[in-house]
Amino acid sequence: MKALIVGGGIIGGAVAWRLAHNGVAVKVFERGRLGQEASWAAAGLIGPQVEAQEPGIFFDLCMAGKNAFDTMVERLAHESGIDPEYDEAGALYVAFDEESAARLKSRARWQREVGAQAEELTPAQALRLAPALSPDIIFALHLPTNRRTENRKLTMAYIRAAQRAGAVFQESTRVAEILSRSGRVSGVRLDDGSVEESDVVIDAAGAWAGEIRGLEADRVRFYPVRGQIICFEGPPGLLGPSLFSPDGILVPRRDGRLIAGSIFEDAGFNKSVTLAGIATITSAVAAMVPGLRGAAFRETWAGLRPASDDLMPVLGESPSVAGAFYAAGHFRSGILLSALTGQVIADLVSGKTPALDLSPFSPARFKNGALKRVPLDMKHI
Ligand SMILES: Cc1cc2nc3c(=O)[nH]c(=O)nc-3n(C[C@H](O)[C@H](O)[C@H](O)COP(=O)(O)OP(=O)(O)OC[C@H]3O[C@@H](n4cnc5c(N)ncnc54)[C@H](O)[C@@H]3O)c2cc1C
Repeated sequence: MKALIVGGGIIGGAVAWRLAHNGVAVKVFERGRLGQEASWAAAGLIGPQVEAQEPGIFFDLCMAGKNAFDTMVERLAHESGIDPEYDEAGALYVAFDEESAARLKSRARWQREVGAQAEELTPAQALRLAPALSPDIIFALHLPTNRRTENRKLTMAYIRAAQRAGAVFQESTRVAEILSRSGRVSGVRLDDGSVEESDVVIDAAGAWAGEIRGLEADRVRFYPVRGQIICFEGPPGLLGPSLFSPDGILVPRRDGRLIAGSIFEDAGFNKSVTLAGIATITSAVAAMVPGLRGAAFRETWAGLRPASDDLMPVLGESPSVAGAFYAAGHFRSGILLSALTGQVIADLVSGKTPALDLSPFSPARFKNGALKRVPLDMKHI
């Protein structure tokens, strides 16, 4: 079997790795350079209890995503020779007012009810976990099993492991169209007009997944949601857990970099960092860790989260073209869901039923055009 994957980000890499292991001949087309878009820009949280705002199918998917990640991360590091820095420190949400504290307490309640670990902490307990925290916090929620990774290294780990398993990656090659004959996929047409034939095509083109022609009958739409990041330098080990407040997050890296973000903006394909973005993020960071006011600025960047109209991933076979699969729309959770996506798409391609019920994430949900775009009014708490 020959499979073509559109997009060389973390999702294309993870799918390529699993497919190559199943003995499929895999070729990945990347429009630019491998792993330089959302997968490069992310904060790297592997935090199912962070990503989901309520119990239900998406929370269950995120928890399954974390399990899949835990199960494969050592093997991935071994096969790729790249350490993705999967750190054990948990996540700590902090509240400065009663309203945020109430939201965190409600989150703790429903998460515990569904069996997840969520600890409610007094300010003194939170300060013991993260001594650099502001003494002005009134409450904190600790998620000890939610972790983080160096997403740039992780993305390259999937790609390297896939290459070692036989997958071929071709950069600077844009796919223009997914081709089909009598309702079955036959390959892709590239930007230069050339055609590459295959039995299977997987659309893993991130925020650009909807720009590829050929699957219009599915009526699946994708759009970019900009996230901005400011990177500071602090002494390595300054912070233990990743920190969250309503307006920002602060995620430490092993080398002392502090990744501060992020915002949810519908700004088209514009990857600018804005004055308003910088102001929101820096004030959120300074409120959480006042000692960072003197931290050295290093760089800023922005990336485009790939969103579908209902902000849920789109995983599965096209209802109109057999053999064409979507592995897209991972929005704010694509790093967390990378291992699971690789696994379930490889299962579907080989005709196996995945262990997890994927029907809520099927592209078929868009087919009658009734689904309306969910408003993007997001905060971190
Ligand atoms: C600021 C920010 C913070 C984030 N933090 C987290 C986090 O902490 N945890 C988490 O789980 N997720 C996080 N995310 C979300 C995560 O980054 C994404 O969900 C994930 O990277 C999506 O991966 P992808 O491979 O689908 O997309 P991308 O990484 O964008 O890759 C898609 C690739 O497809 C290529 N492409 C597009 N069109 C074509 C074409 N026609 N032909 C060939 N190639 C094409 C692109 O060039 C690109 O390289 C964050 C995102 C942002 C922006």
